[in-house]
Amino acid sequence: MIGRSKPPTATKLPAFLEMTAEQIATSKRIQEEVRQALHGRVQANQEEARLIRGIHAERAARATLRVLSIETRRKGRSEAIKVHLARLADALADQGRYEEAAVTHPAKSRAKEYLAIHAAIERPDSDICSCSPKEIRDPASGKTLRIPTHNKVEDVYSQKHKRMVPLVRCSSCPHLNAGILPESLKQREQAMLAKQPRADHELLK
Ligand SMILES: [Zn+2]
Repeated sequence: MIGRSKPPTATKLPAFLEMTAEQIATSKRIQEEVRQALHGRVQANQEEARLIRGIHAERAARATLRVLSIETRRKGRSEAIKVHLARLADALADQGRYEEAAVTHPAKSRAKEYLAIHAAIERPDSDICSCSPKEIRDPASGKTLRIPTHNKVEDVYSQKHKRMVPLVRCSSCPHLNAGILPESLKQREQAMLAKQPRADHELLK
């Protein structure tokens, strides 16, 4: 965890602008990786586009925060700092830097979420809880339906996997993992994709 507890002093940059050597190295490595991956290509893919957006947004947020750190008498300064710290945190998250995002975001709930995503990425991919699907009785048909307990929340960029990975949450326990889609979800996604053309066709009837 990167600490930001030191109070700003006159000679030092405010804590939110200080970058550790490790952070600078991470930032440079990501930029170099994107540059190499894009070599000779015009169009960025989904992952690269997200990384590029994150890199640009990080630069913009840091530049604005630098200005705000100097303009100490500016009206609404502390609110503006919070807004741009949130943007900086989101920009770090876009690059898969969730641990840094967690210590940067001014809203505790969002910071907690980012830390949970970081832990979910670091957890081994196979470490998925064994909660069984929920069985509910369908009142219309009288049949018992098995509802999977795992749900994909969103796709997140993982520095560990070097790609977008699904963030999977369990509705029966606090389990959260990011890496692979459980078999039950894979089948459900395939079934949904297979149904799609028919559903669109029916809309035209
Ligand atoms: Zn579970």
